[in-house]
Amino acid sequence: MEQRYDLHVHSAISDGTQPLSELVPAIAAAGLHGFALTDHDTASGWVEAAALAKEHGLDFLPGAEFSCRYTYSVEGGTKSKTIHLLAYGYNAETSELARRVEDIRASRANRAQKIVELLAADYPVTWENVLEQVAEGNAAVGRPHIADALVAAGIVADRSEAFARLLYTGSPYYVPQQALDPIEAVRLVRDAGGVPVIAHPMSRSRGPALTLDYMEQLIEAGLGGVEVYHRENSPEDRAALLDFLDAYSEILVTGSSDYHGAGKPNQLGENTTSAETVAAIRAQIRA
Ligand code: AMP
Ligand code: ZN
Ligand code: FE
Ligand code: FE
Repeated sequence: MEQRYDLHVHSAISDGTQPLSELVPAIAAAGLHGFALTDHDTASGWVEAAALAKEHGLDFLPGAEFSCRYTYSVEGGTKSKTIHLLAYGYNAETSELARRVEDIRASRANRAQKIVELLAADYPVTWENVLEQVAEGNAAVGRPHIADALVAAGIVADRSEAFARLLYTGSPYYVPQQALDPIEAVRLVRDAGGVPVIAHPMSRSRGPALTLDYMEQLIEAGLGGVEVYHRENSPEDRAALLDFLDAYSEILVTGSSDYHGAGKPNQLGENTTSAETVAAIRAQIRA
């Protein structure tokens, strides 16, 4: 049988809902050959995930997902756009990237607290309620945990409603997270020996889709791949991306679920990556 990988998976170490001890067996049960753990802004699950993967006969690729943001000029001012960068196999201990990401990760709790203060003016929710939703060993607090507190308080039905009504980017309760510039992030990942892959590039949940112009700049900076097969890229988006990437044979094409356990409808293995592509990613790792 063909060996398939899911290269974008979150655990409760960030905003997935399952600890690694539940997540890794679920990945094996989904019939996957291997996976990458890509928690937000942290590599703290790598050692445990590698051990569990071995136990369950899975091939493991270490990774993370970084929120990046850039501003651009429009008539009468500036706008900003957030994009997510996956990074595989980077040096998470002694690199400049690791230092920068640790600062960003550590600032997450403060930023989440500010969002809760804004919400608390209108809704019965406290920071303690949010902390109750954060799993033991969590390294990266985010809006999904605030969403879980809103669900627990009966203010919304699920994470999706929390984001749609209160937590979306640009909401009156929204506070931006510290973020790297995407082009700088691509360079930092390469300098740290890792392979940068842009996540769900055509997602419109954080503003308009990424332009192909900007993607070209990311490629020039050292981008290694594009997550074409992701539920937030429509069939038309995928066709447009593949068409664009025709001119860049060296850019790898990946697919993944962006699984968050019960926090999102995304199912393990709903989009996958070939073993050949995983081998090509590994061949580029210099960490
Ligand atoms: P943060 O990093 O704190 O800004 O939160 C962003 C996270 O929220 C991302 O990991 C998304 O997966 C998650 N997210 C965004 N929109 C939704 C949604 N509609 N439902 C559930 N989770 C979401
Ligand atoms: Zn997430
Ligand atoms: Fe993402
Ligand atoms: Fe993700």
